[in-house]
Amino acid sequence: MSFKSVNDILGVLEKQAQWQEQPFQRLLQFWAEVVGVVVAKHTRPLSIQRDVLRVATSSAAWAQNLTFGRQTLLVKLNEKLPTPLIDIRFSTAGWQSSPEVRNPQIAVLPCEHPSYLDTANHSPSEAKSHATNPNTAFGHWAEVMQARSQGLPLCPQCQCPTPPGELQRWLVCSFCAAKQL
Ligand SMILES: [Zn+2]
Repeated sequence: MSFKSVNDILGVLEKQAQWQEQPFQRLLQFWAEVVGVVVAKHTRPLSIQRDVLRVATSSAAWAQNLTFGRQTLLVKLNEKLPTPLIDIRFSTAGWQSSPEVRNPQIAVLPCEHPSYLDTANHSPSEAKSHATNPNTAFGHWAEVMQARSQGLPLCPQCQCPTPPGELQRWLVCSFCAAKQL
């Protein structure tokens, strides 16, 4: 495959991505206005896939209520969208994974330090099998981290559960140790 054809493919993919992203970006801008401040606090649009909008909700009750009222919402949203939506799916899935957590800059928590993983009996392949999508991956990660944090000493600086080896070596967790360097 020549460079040119690769570039052509990338160009097409890029255009498709932009084309798919555009209605969603627009929707984000008027979402709070359409649903109202209260609902906006408990919802977060995640994506538009095949004209179906996916929205994360803070609780199952919100998902249920909004699912009942989604036809009204669809009409209001479609008035403002270039491509009409055919449905909205509300679910608590994806609510937990806040943008902060997805931010790669602070994704490396002390608990994710490689030395931390050595203390657990989880094999990498087992962890991978759970990571079917970012949402479930995060949920699983959070569970594992919670389980692992039990019984571990806390870093005196950031209060994060820290492997004893790190405390012996640096008196703080590896993350705080790195910050001090
Ligand atoms: Zn620390």
